[in-house]
Amino acid sequence: MQSLTVVVPAYNEAAVLPAFHQRIMAVLDALPLAGRVLYVDDGSADNTWSMIDALAAADPRVTALKLSRNFGKEAAMTAGLDRADADAVVVIDADLQDPPELIPALLERAREGYDVVYATRAERDGESRVKRFTSAAFYRVMERLSDTPVPRDTGDFRLMSRRAVLALRSLRERQRFMKGLFAWVGYRQTAVIYRRDARAAGQTKWNYWRLTNLAIEGLTSFSTAPLRLATWVGMSAALLAFIYAIWVLLKVLVWGDPVRGYPTLMVVILFLGGAQLMALGVIGEYVGRTYSESKQRPIYFIDEERG
Ligand code: UDP
Ligand code: MG
Repeated sequence: MQSLTVVVPAYNEAAVLPAFHQRIMAVLDALPLAGRVLYVDDGSADNTWSMIDALAAADPRVTALKLSRNFGKEAAMTAGLDRADADAVVVIDADLQDPPELIPALLERAREGYDVVYATRAERDGESRVKRFTSAAFYRVMERLSDTPVPRDTGDFRLMSRRAVLALRSLRERQRFMKGLFAWVGYRQTAVIYRRDARAAGQTKWNYWRLTNLAIEGLTSFSTAPLRLATWVGMSAALLAFIYAIWVLLKVLVWGDPVRGYPTLMVVILFLGGAQLMALGVIGEYVGRTYSESKQRPIYFIDEERG
């Protein structure tokens, strides 16, 4: 292994960028190989780009990419991975939640012959109970439903060998659930455990709405289990309805029950209506996915490039 490129997606990170740059450069200086940093500005609204631009002008080991608008972290990472042609590539967050000092440990495992070394967090500082609970629940559901299990408590912070990066590059789907794609590629993968710090400065871009959408995306990109579930719910509802119909018929024939049963009728109609709408929503989710993939749009556009 001769060279290493560190890909850093950054969206409105002006507050932490100087601190991040100092720490990553200190780590790279100590490494026994040619280290580079590739910043990808994901259409920031603050002066993130001018800072990255200045960094690239001052240091030949810094490369900078500016996307034409905010495409989201997944696309920004993809842009970086498309450009990085080192023997090993590290993906890391700009907000210092992933400690750059862990990179030597990742490299060491890679030298042992692993293609993907991901950093798994042992504890989570600065995150609420609710967030911890929901993320645990998400991983559990993913593990159950997905064909490619995503490692638990693992973000995008990881080191990849050149062939793993090349493999990842060949996956051009537009709905990019990176954690799933990383896992899907395969090769020899291993984990390094670390403590995840709280964000050093600035704001997280992930509110619950975006996180929920990411979770739905993860599920529907890597599993068709929800479709299967809809089938099962439909079949059981039909079976129950059939049994209930026999009971109603018998009541009329044997006891000659006069017309009544408005409440039951109401409950049955509402229940079936709800179940149908839900199943339709699930199908719609997959149809929408097929639609956006079939448009074959590029994943990102590059506005400017430095270094
Ligand atoms: N990020 C990005 N584009 C976005 C949102 C985030 O490139 O639209 C970057 C952000 O600058 C940071 C990383 O992705 O380097 C993780 O973002 P954040 O810290 O907001 O996510 P969290 O750590 O809360 O999951
Ligand atoms: Mg963060």
